[in-house]
Amino acid sequence: MDKIEKNIIDLSVVVPIYNEAPIIPELIDRLHASVSPLGLNVEYILVDDGSQDTSLAQLKFFAQKNAALRYISLSRNFGHQIAIMAGLEHCQGKAVVIIDGDLQDPPELIPKLYEQYQQGFKVVYTKRIHRKGESLFKKVTAKLYYRFLRTITRVNIPTDSGDYRLIDRQVVSALLLMPEKHKYLRGQIAWIGFKQTFVPFERDIRKIGKTNFTVRKMVRFAWDGVTGFSDLPLKLATVFGFWVSLISLFIIIYALLSYFLWQKAVPGWTSQIISSTFIGGIQLLTIGIIGEYIGRINSQVRNRPLYIISDTNFEQDLEKKRYEN
Ligand code: UDP
Ligand code: MG
Repeated sequence: MDKIEKNIIDLSVVVPIYNEAPIIPELIDRLHASVSPLGLNVEYILVDDGSQDTSLAQLKFFAQKNAALRYISLSRNFGHQIAIMAGLEHCQGKAVVIIDGDLQDPPELIPKLYEQYQQGFKVVYTKRIHRKGESLFKKVTAKLYYRFLRTITRVNIPTDSGDYRLIDRQVVSALLLMPEKHKYLRGQIAWIGFKQTFVPFERDIRKIGKTNFTVRKMVRFAWDGVTGFSDLPLKLATVFGFWVSLISLFIIIYALLSYFLWQKAVPGWTSQIISSTFIGGIQLLTIGIIGEYIGRINSQVRNRPLYIISDTNFEQDLEKKRYEN
């Protein structure tokens, strides 16, 4: 695709899809109904993140009927953030909306996001005022986590806000320049800066299917947010180490004094056990924290491609260009 054509897309809508087959017809319907009144030149980029159901077949079916619909199928499940990245790397719009494919993010909000964009905002994120149908556990942990992240990082990551947002082409370009392999887009976008605002909304319940985020995935993702934007855990290791060593020093002095001066050797092994397990615990903890960071350095050094495409209706030369870069 050449430059001239590149400039004519006003809005790209990037949607990650993982096993969402039953909802895809409604998704495409509602996206279309919400965006077309804007009268823009739009492209929809639906990224199939290695779905095991018929999602890809559905996307292909709708792509035949709708020329604005592009699909990218990844060769396996790479995860939500990477699926979004695949969309961002391929989109051409002057503005880009990132929206979940399960309709928990209402597409009807897109015109409001676009309105703010036209007012000059480069990032228009959405803020959930209600999270219908989500477990108390998820609500509470999410709330605590974002408050925590805010206090330990220097970037101002908005609370109660997911990836549903509109970003300007300038922000997309900046995102594509950021080399980290562990993506934490809402943090990265906060880091990039520019003029930002938000639109509040009520997050719908998931009507079909269930969340793809297990507690395990949530914890990994939460760690990516922490390690990507804060060195506090590493510093904590040092602080722990310092205090434990200091306390140990007093214990050692006490033990020596009782042996040599007071002539009464400490008889019990209880204190031994307590101190050695305590120190052992602190050591494992701090080694673990260091390991987490080294793991991330390691994947950065490996420098593998973020994802592999198995099928797409994007033009071949566009694809080739991506691999040549
Ligand atoms: N998703 C994806 N890859 C994954 C997991 C999820 O592309 O490995 C998509 C999923 O289809 C949905 C969006 O990312 O469109 C958000 O996922 P989900 O609804 O499971 O997350 P939650 O809303 O519970 O945070
Ligand atoms: Mg969801």
